[in-house]
Amino acid sequence: MHTAGIFAVEDGCVALTMNKEYAEVIVDVAAFPIDREFHYRVPPGLQPSLEVGHRVLVPFGRRRVVGYVVGFSPPPEDVASIKDVLRILDEEPLITPTLLQLAHWMSEYYGCLLVEAISCMLPPGTRARESAPRRTLKAVRLTGGGSFAGLGPKQQLALELIQKASGEPITFVSLEEQGIGRATIQSLIKRGILGEEWVTIRRRPEEQALTREDKQVILTPEQERALAAITGSLGQNQVFVLHGVTGSGKTEVYLRAIASALRADLGALVLVPEIALTAQVMGAFQARFGDEVALLHSNLSVGERHDEWLRLRRGEARVVVGARSAVFAPVQNLGLIVIDEEHEPSYKQDDRHPRYHARTVAMKRAALENAAVVLGSATPSMESYYRGQGGSSRLLVLSKRVEHLPLPEVAIVDMREELKRGNRTVFSRRLQGELARCLGRGEQAILFLNRRGYTTFIFCRECGEVMRCGDCSVSMTYHQTEGELRCHYCGNTREPPQVCPACGSRAIRHFGAGTQRVVEAFQELFPRARAARLDADVTGRKGAHAEILRSFAAREIDVLVGTQMVAKGFDFPGVTLVGVVAADTILNLPDYRSSERTFQLLVQAAGRAGRGPDGGLVVIQTYNPHHYAVMNAAEHDYEAFYQQEMAFRKSLHYPPFCRLVRLLFQGESEAEVQRAAHLWSRLLGPKVRPEGWEMFGPAPAPLSRLQDRYRWHLWLKVPSEGPLAIKKLLSECAAQGALTEVSLSVDVEPSFML
Ligand code: ADP
Ligand code: ZN
Ligand code: ZN
Repeated sequence: MHTAGIFAVEDGCVALTMNKEYAEVIVDVAAFPIDREFHYRVPPGLQPSLEVGHRVLVPFGRRRVVGYVVGFSPPPEDVASIKDVLRILDEEPLITPTLLQLAHWMSEYYGCLLVEAISCMLPPGTRARESAPRRTLKAVRLTGGGSFAGLGPKQQLALELIQKASGEPITFVSLEEQGIGRATIQSLIKRGILGEEWVTIRRRPEEQALTREDKQVILTPEQERALAAITGSLGQNQVFVLHGVTGSGKTEVYLRAIASALRADLGALVLVPEIALTAQVMGAFQARFGDEVALLHSNLSVGERHDEWLRLRRGEARVVVGARSAVFAPVQNLGLIVIDEEHEPSYKQDDRHPRYHARTVAMKRAALENAAVVLGSATPSMESYYRGQGGSSRLLVLSKRVEHLPLPEVAIVDMREELKRGNRTVFSRRLQGELARCLGRGEQAILFLNRRGYTTFIFCRECGEVMRCGDCSVSMTYHQTEGELRCHYCGNTREPPQVCPACGSRAIRHFGAGTQRVVEAFQELFPRARAARLDADVTGRKGAHAEILRSFAAREIDVLVGTQMVAKGFDFPGVTLVGVVAADTILNLPDYRSSERTFQLLVQAAGRAGRGPDGGLVVIQTYNPHHYAVMNAAEHDYEAFYQQEMAFRKSLHYPPFCRLVRLLFQGESEAEVQRAAHLWSRLLGPKVRPEGWEMFGPAPAPLSRLQDRYRWHLWLKVPSEGPLAIKKLLSECAAQGALTEVSLSVDVEPSFML
């Protein structure tokens, strides 16, 4: 980005107008050769209103495309062939100069196209559209007349929806969201059945299901100290790691810190992990700050998110609470960023470009805007805690639960012993006994396991063959309701085989237990207890998740059985027992973070127990009772886990002692993919000589085939600023070894190694 525009502002109005003659524009075309600024002339009529951050329409080749103004420049060399900016697309620039700077940094650090980074900063639903959706929206309603003869099925469906609105206008956008295209609507207008009009709509997300009253509490001394430290640093670039045990009242600290930010006229940005936390945590924020809070999460419609975004951009809302992508929200005068459950892998976007980590981006943004950052967790990530130890962030500790509640007692059950004693059920005798006692006292329990579906996989007891997806190299999951096997990577389904496809044996067995099977096994033991499931299969339906939690909170459900979703953030005082059905599922993944993930999940799951006056007990069932992740979780001993895990990371030189970068090669031909990976390894090899750089591979990825594509990868270990050099390295390699039929994706600090 050139700074001509900025100098111009300092030089005064005349210079400003002069210097706006040529704009530097990033065009919205996602391709590597186009990943740079293009120059356009700004017609005199547009010069007074055009600013950095504006979206514009420009000619590009034979097309007209949307572009983003990133700066102004002196007359470029090719001035004769230069073309004009055609139009400014929005009244106000959509992107602030700071967010534009953040986009530049992202494109360097994550090796993505600048336009991909810029697209993160746009209001939801805007990208590449020629005009941003407005609050005055085009709508239709019934005229009462027109010709109804010979209507097609789509037109009839549209009419049904419009009739349901009983005379109120209904917007094009909402019809489109329900699958009615513009052509259909237009055809009904032509027939005189519908009339067009403009309506102004204020879209606010519905009240959250778990909105709770705003509790007045007196802070504990530890909360007071943490709060004082944070409020003393509002509006300064200071990072805090808030290590608070489960139930220590971290949310209350966030709420009060935000309240003081608002009093100081500073805005605040709060990130929470996806879906599981939203209802409860957002309820707490809405109860405290009302309309000052804008919500941004995936359960809202695009329209709702767009309007919440605008409220922030205009300063009508000064606090945003949202999932990962809310890190880009246009909060005005940002003074505080809170990342709750900062260790959560869902903060990393790993399924598409740009593959950013919201925590890393938040720290960069805080540095650019002078904001304080609070990274809160009961189980801080190795990266964050390490930073705290090194002094580049301050550690704040909440070591006790509020109201003198003790942490729950934890019992480890060795499942190998159960098997030896002939217990083949999913519940150990200990857990059965504790469930009976818990239910007998009229209390609630949570059963946690890290799987969904009826069983994990089906395998042959004779030859060990596992039923795998034909397109991916992963085992398929059996779903009992549908009676089919399903691949959770590509969605393929098939009927479970009666005989082993490899050896013909009939000894085909389900292995492991899923939520559904646990519910059934539970109901066999306790037929009168009320049990419900909470996992991604159940909560795919909008509202289902909140409804289950509501009835659990209202004690209409005794036992909640679920995946990770039940382990995070919930605060249900009626829960006195937590059973971890199988602690080992993650421990066995080929990933250097598997111990850390296991420790985090166990501590989080245990943290759901004993949040009320009746105390709590946690039963962990495992085949690895002596693993340090399991033992330290049972002792609630983060420090001990951290020391052991760091010794392991250090000996193998894994993060946080380096940064990992993964180059993933994918394609339909295995030979081509392999060839490309080897070629790039030869090209990159001599370039990664500098001190602190290492290269590994090429090798097939653990998931060596996914969605019908073969996968090979190369790994780099680089120092902390290393990622900033990657983009240049890669473009040098691309010039020497162009890839055909093989795609390459770069993942800086990937969250999984698979
Ligand atoms: P954490 O996020 O640390 O696990 P929460 O923020 O969920 O803990 O707090 C647990 C419960 O304690 C919440 O119901 C909260 O309202 C309550 N709480 C927080 N601070 C206090 C306090 N100082 N005194 C009493 N209750 C508190
Ligand atoms: Zn598949
Ligand atoms: Zn077999």
